[in-house]
Amino acid sequence: MTMQKKLHLTSLGCAKNLVDSEMMLGVLELEGYTTVEDPAEAELLLINTCGFIRPAVEEAVDKILELAEYKEKDPNKKLVVTGCMVQRYGKELQEELPEVDIFIGIDEEKEISSLIKNWVPGNPSLFLDGPSTFLTDSQLPRRLATPFFRSSLKITEGCDNRCTYCMIPTIRGGLRSRSVQDLLIEAKALEQAGVKELSLIAQDLTAYGDDFDGSEAGDNLVWLLNQLLVQTDIPWFRLLYLYPSSVSEGLLELMAEQPRILPYLDIPFQHVSDPVLQRMGRRYGQQDLEQLIAQIRRVLPNCALRTTMMVGFPGETEEDLEKLLDCLQRWQLDHVGVFSYEAEQGSLAADFSDKVDKEIQEKRFAQVMELQAKISANTLTQYVGKKEVVLVEGVSKETDLLLEGRTRYQAPDIDGCVLINDGTADPGDLVTVEITEAHIYDLVGGIISRAQNK
Ligand code: SF4
Repeated sequence: MTMQKKLHLTSLGCAKNLVDSEMMLGVLELEGYTTVEDPAEAELLLINTCGFIRPAVEEAVDKILELAEYKEKDPNKKLVVTGCMVQRYGKELQEELPEVDIFIGIDEEKEISSLIKNWVPGNPSLFLDGPSTFLTDSQLPRRLATPFFRSSLKITEGCDNRCTYCMIPTIRGGLRSRSVQDLLIEAKALEQAGVKELSLIAQDLTAYGDDFDGSEAGDNLVWLLNQLLVQTDIPWFRLLYLYPSSVSEGLLELMAEQPRILPYLDIPFQHVSDPVLQRMGRRYGQQDLEQLIAQIRRVLPNCALRTTMMVGFPGETEEDLEKLLDCLQRWQLDHVGVFSYEAEQGSLAADFSDKVDKEIQEKRFAQVMELQAKISANTLTQYVGKKEVVLVEGVSKETDLLLEGRTRYQAPDIDGCVLINDGTADPGDLVTVEITEAHIYDLVGGIISRAQNK
């Protein structure tokens, strides 16, 4: 009987990185590891890092030093660091973080069990073999780190776009798409495990299949979705990270026909001003965005739109920011994530002139956040009095007097939620909630019935 070993996982960064963490959990579980919440109890301290922007790297280093203190108290513990920060900085990290026993690059993560088993102090501690070419697949084990009823399906790895501020292609490599067959096998396994909400994720979802031999750009995502709809009964499919100029009419029409593809689109615009978008290396301008939003609202009138905006990019003027504020005011988007530009060492934009002062960046960030908070509060009022299907997450993080869940228009971890003040339900239940109140980011309401699974 394999001895129960305990590991503590910290998974940083995006949902794509969490899928890698879940793969490593699956691999380690086969080796007899179970996951514990308290690092003090664990013999293996595992951190899967993010490394694409400086604040993420700082967060990872802080976490590593925090966990190194547990190792100081108990030298038998192993501190293992994986992920994008290792992929990006590799050797430098070895010098800067001697507390760490083993550094593992993205492509070597699937070998984590044997790398840990065969490692002895004094042995080389960095396992990283050049640019990443790894592509996960359904044959690799996966232990979900999310609640059982929701998960992500990572349909590609890497990215062929070349946005001037972004280090992801350098860290994750060029675009690699998984086959439809392989994705169906994984989706069915997730359905078996009780998944009701499956988010399709990638660096650029619309690029799915562009690397397939003889493929026509853009149709493959529609083909994949049709197969997922036919071959599973998963009630909710959510689409995240679409590239603005590659959202096809075919995709919107399929969404209009198929309510199991949620009326929700996450499409990072990054900015709206043509000169800024050109310097960012984005393949569209303001007019394209105006047309896209009009097209989506024509084909999918009640679709929730999420985007991300970046302020303070080199060369951004007050006039550019005014344009951004004006567009947000006119477009009334449901969810907007706002970021301040960070000059990333190794990115093209890091050498651009006309850098924007930190103070001005912060002022512009606050202006956009303030405007969008008003817009969010306003767009949420449209749900008051309506009956919405809600996926129950469980007891509210705010108080155990309330349950919380999400409507079809609220993605996990990044959008607001529904605070349920009447009725009972279990995590993973789909219920119908009558919305009675709207706050800046959250809704409030009571359960009126069980929802049909569709
Ligand atoms: S689309 Fe652009 S920002 Fe997104 S991962 Fe690719 S290069 Fe980076």
